Amino acid sequence: MNPATGQVFSLLARGSKEDVDAAVTSATQAFASWSRTGAEERSAILMRIADLIEKRKDEFARTESEDQGKPVHLAASMDISRAILNFRFFAQTILAHENESTSDAHTLNYVSRKPAGVAGLISPWNLPLYLLTWKIAPALACGNTVVAKPSEMTSMTADLLADVCVEAGLPAGVLNLVYGLGPEVGEAIVRHPEVPLISFTGGTATGRRILEASAEHFKKVSLELGGKNPNIIFADANLDKALAMTLRSSFLNQGEICLCGSRIYVERSVYPAFLEKFVAETERLTVGDPSDPKTFMGPLVSKAHWEKVRSYIDIAREEGGRIECGGTVPEMSGAFKNGFWLRPTVITNLKQNSRCVQEEIFGPVVTVQPFDTVDEVIHLANDVKYGLSATVWTESLSKAQKVAGELRVGTVWINTWLHRDLRMPFGGMKHSGIGREGGPHSIDFFTETTTVCVRT
Ligand code: NAD
Repeated sequence: MNPATGQVFSLLARGSKEDVDAAVTSATQAFASWSRTGAEERSAILMRIADLIEKRKDEFARTESEDQGKPVHLAASMDISRAILNFRFFAQTILAHENESTSDAHTLNYVSRKPAGVAGLISPWNLPLYLLTWKIAPALACGNTVVAKPSEMTSMTADLLADVCVEAGLPAGVLNLVYGLGPEVGEAIVRHPEVPLISFTGGTATGRRILEASAEHFKKVSLELGGKNPNIIFADANLDKALAMTLRSSFLNQGEICLCGSRIYVERSVYPAFLEKFVAETERLTVGDPSDPKTFMGPLVSKAHWEKVRSYIDIAREEGGRIECGGTVPEMSGAFKNGFWLRPTVITNLKQNSRCVQEEIFGPVVTVQPFDTVDEVIHLANDVKYGLSATVWTESLSKAQKVAGELRVGTVWINTWLHRDLRMPFGGMKHSGIGREGGPHSIDFFTETTTVCVRT
């Protein structure tokens, strides 16, 4: 369904357990030769895949927007650019990777690294191709074959990717995509005895199910799950920069990024002025036609998600929250009349234990709360079940480092947001996930190692 119009624009195969079995058989057969293909050759194919996506970038971006709702320009600059980078990055990383070795007078120890086998990869709808390729690229670079399931809501760019892989010369059976529903296709991948490794990005409740289901075969599992990330603004910050970036970290991609800063904590002395400006700037954000280059926010991904996000605005009212702006559905006309639109929403006056502060809403809805001391804000920031990322705004290096050191999250950004160096470990703590991926961490995850000890 196109979320901007509420209209079906394509039908998708509803895969079954039998389709997953066939895909795993195909991947297992292809593994025999792909796992023995030299890293240079695998790297060259990944580079070709990147080049071919780049050649068709506009088509990929339009398709991602039509399927997901995000503005076309954002799909081009963020999603598709990053998918290209994922392939190029892991094509290079695999060539630069070195394995450990030690030696002394009588022994030589070295690590023999092998691909794990058929990798099961499951991804969500918010950054469809971006997150799918974050898994496919390292899995293939390491010599694994793949059975992957994109989200049933956003499988279109995965389908384009399949075409590109064929054109790039990826051998048959190395990458298998099975479309369909989580409890049908996803669960069949997770439970399959010939899939030793699962990399999953999605919601925390699904992650729990996947962990349970993968226990039977002691699978290697990486889980990148939900977030409820704090955005901490101290009075000594460069407030203009903090404000400009906070607008993005709150509402980019309709707030449907796991790394969005949905809990904003502002030091009390600057709270009133910051809030006033933040609300005014939020009201100026353009919501509308995703193909218009001036649009900042498109519609939410689906009717069910739109209803869920709006229900939190009702919950906020019941909890005594004040809706400072947004909270309503904008009047749209023509083709966009039945889309899943929502104005960006800022809520204040909520207690820390309210549901809107504690639970992941995953839409264009943020809460803003004042704080008085460094220790208090560290406590508030950590006082949720999630631990994915945080942003800290201050000109004091020592304060920033103290806060970064005490936050229980996988990534802390200081005076920036969403900057990623793909060599660095990425993942979450607590209910935000298990494991780290990125550069050498992905290579570790997508391979098995044997330590070989030689008596010299
Ligand atoms: P979801 O958990 O509903 O679905 C994710 C994927 O899992 C989909 O492909 C779905 O079909 C599949 N799935 C569902 N049930 C399954 C099952 N029983 N077994 C196997 N697979 C199953 O999540 P979503 O709504 O698509 O995505 C939004 C969530 O993803 C948010 O919570 C967001 O925070 C999280 N997310 C996390 C990160 C991260 O890096 N930590 C990145 C993006 C999104």
